[in-house]
Amino acid sequence: MAESYDVIVIGAGPAGYHAAIRCAQLGLKTACIDEFVGPDGEAALGGTCLNVGCIPSKALLDSSEHYHKANHGLDAHGIKVGDVKLDVPTMIERKNKIVKQMTGGVAQLFKANKVEWLAGHGKLLSDRQVEFSPLKKKSKQTLQAENVILATGSKPIDIGAAPIDEDRIVSSTGALEFTEVPKRLGVIGAGVIGLEMGSVWSRLGSNVVLLEAQDTFLAPVDGQIAKEAQKVFTQQGLEIRLGARVTETRKGKQLSVHYEDKEGKQTLQVDKLVVAVGRRPHTDNLFHEDTGLLTDERGFVHVGDHCETNVPGVYAIGDVVRGPMLAHKGMEEGLMVADVIAGKPGHVSYDTIPWVIYTHPEIAWVGRTEQSCKSAGIPYATGTFRFAAAGRAVAMDDTVGMVKIIAHKETDRILGVHIVGPQASELIAEAVLAMEYAASAEDLARTVHAHPTLSEAVHEAALHVHRQAIHRGN
Ligand code: FAD
Ligand code: AMP
Repeated sequence: MAESYDVIVIGAGPAGYHAAIRCAQLGLKTACIDEFVGPDGEAALGGTCLNVGCIPSKALLDSSEHYHKANHGLDAHGIKVGDVKLDVPTMIERKNKIVKQMTGGVAQLFKANKVEWLAGHGKLLSDRQVEFSPLKKKSKQTLQAENVILATGSKPIDIGAAPIDEDRIVSSTGALEFTEVPKRLGVIGAGVIGLEMGSVWSRLGSNVVLLEAQDTFLAPVDGQIAKEAQKVFTQQGLEIRLGARVTETRKGKQLSVHYEDKEGKQTLQVDKLVVAVGRRPHTDNLFHEDTGLLTDERGFVHVGDHCETNVPGVYAIGDVVRGPMLAHKGMEEGLMVADVIAGKPGHVSYDTIPWVIYTHPEIAWVGRTEQSCKSAGIPYATGTFRFAAAGRAVAMDDTVGMVKIIAHKETDRILGVHIVGPQASELIAEAVLAMEYAASAEDLARTVHAHPTLSEAVHEAALHVHRQAIHRGN
């Protein structure tokens, strides 16, 4: 008899491990299968996010920011430092330790919640059976489940023009492992990951050039905010070449990156090249064709509003399904599906998922951009406030950027909040909550904000929607 479970989750990234823990909390017998193997050759939980994504990238962003500050940001505070030295291997080792701590933490949570961790490959068969191929054994097992949750995440997109070798041409994973600072670094794709990786190595001393195929910088971001960010990043030394489509790379003594822009064919010589052109859903050998599981034309597993697939009892969540490829979106889907399986109501507010780009200044937003209001014909009003006029930002010597609030012209309901500036990643939480509760700009304007805090910039932007800001002209 096949071992049977109430729920089998395939994939232990943020989506899968949240789903598994919540299922177990709700009293369901739960197993979670994951095939990820860390650099030490051991199975590790946490998926892309904890191992090679969100967490290690933020560790290096923080380290590189400290280095940058030690070199450039302390004089004005009256702090003189001597010769600042960089030790990249120690920086990478610190990042690796953090990853180990976080992935180990998920293993402990599995233990505490009685989620059975099965290290190996999972494949959906018909009738809610799952074929499990353990990492360390040749034999396969067939498991039976009442419900199966597919949470297999995503993989970097590889383009023919720049095949990844994880040595000179690397994915984001390789860009987290450089043991020395490349003198010249090329990055294909000026999206979220390209900008974060470019920032790390630029702060550590690389000459970074980003080649972006689109003519618009950060097209999904509110135009005013993207413009401001582009100006700041360029001042910081990131060279962003727009309308630049990479066509070929040649490896000689130097790495030549050939691309085309409106002026014709161009070549860039670099030491290392990061390919950050997006990610694709990871469904390799995930399901037998007998299951009849539907995927869409881009390879995402097709799901409905509650992440149900077309196969009864089979759900899919996280990067492997439609919607933004963000860890917290997958986490919420994981919790929702667990609740639905346990017979409780489940819901994800897809309209209020925050986005963050962890550059310095950070960029964060939620809801509609001004351009999307225009194209949808929604009447709107905007309020803005610059950090340069916020006392706390001045005291911190971190005054670049602004907050922008977009509210419905007639109802005053907040439609979108956009921030480029210090700690935007934290400040956006207030906006998400406000939108979740259908707040108006006036609601936010009448909410007391502590002084002096960066959040006062959000408050003033809300006041400015009705031209009642105090610390700026209206
Ligand atoms: P994943 O995290 O990809 O996990 C899927 C897991 O399933 C993996 O462990 C994989 O090995 C396993 N798996 C796949 N197929 C099988 C199979 N058949 N059998 C067994 N196991 C299988 N998002 C943010 O929200 N904030 C950030 O700051 C952020 N930074 C990022 C930085 C980088 C460099 C990268 C690459 C991504 C970043 N992301 C960030 C995106 C984030 O990592 C993903 O959105 C998130 O990891 C998706 O979670 P998931 O659970 O759907 O899949
Ligand atoms: P993201 O989707 O945020 O990861 O960003 C990926 C970026 O890579 C997008 O802005 C794409 O326009 C860009 N991109 C995709 N293919 C190419 C290419 N061949 N050359 C340059 N940029 C590209």
